Amino acid sequence: MTEHPGGPASSPRILIVEDEPALRRFLVPTLVGQGYQVLTAATATEGLALARSHNPDLVLLDLGLPDLDGMEVLRQLRAWSRRPIVILSARNQERDKVRALDQGADDYLAKPFGAAELLARLRVALRRTLQTEAGETVVASGGLRVDLGRRVVTLDERPIHLTALEYRLLEALVRRNGRVATHAQLLADVWGPGGAGNTHYLRIYMAMLRRKLEADPTRPRHFITEPNVGYRLDLDGPG
Ligand code: CA
Repeated sequence: MTEHPGGPASSPRILIVEDEPALRRFLVPTLVGQGYQVLTAATATEGLALARSHNPDLVLLDLGLPDLDGMEVLRQLRAWSRRPIVILSARNQERDKVRALDQGADDYLAKPFGAAELLARLRVALRRTLQTEAGETVVASGGLRVDLGRRVVTLDERPIHLTALEYRLLEALVRRNGRVATHAQLLADVWGPGGAGNTHYLRIYMAMLRRKLEADPTRPRHFITEPNVGYRLDLDGPG
């Protein structure tokens, strides 16, 4: 293992479990440069041991590891840790990605990814921990404002009427706090067990939310489609 101290001891500690040296060489300086403290492991065994000994604030986990399947690492981490886990996956691992998210990973980055995308995902994943603790109920971005406590949605200060199912879908996305939600997770949240497999429900209701809440529904800024995976509500973007 290697320890790379970044900022002060209070700054978030990130564990990278990744066997590709080239990717570690990109990740470590990028994260250290942002003030994160970084630990690296090149195998699953080492990663699991470091997670236990150092209890990192976030784990960046590659799914393709030499000694153990990344999914198994995820399962073992989730047995005792609720801290954010962001998956690093190859472009063609669509099914693994969805499986990892459904089994408790917070988000994923598809290789290759750039520094800006990496840092944005990490900020979102780390913010999740803080906001869950703070019990935040109002989110806003550009003209869109969602008050979960009062169940009120406004666009440019105009109240927007949503049907019960539209609101439930919006709420499910808001509660993911910028992280991706898989089709299965959204269907379960909104329709319950009866919704399983009905991905077309999501397409229909997502289109309705976009029509009501996006400035230009054909070029959504907030309601983002993650092809073959699910959707995310991006409240950091422009507008
Ligand atoms: Ca790998």
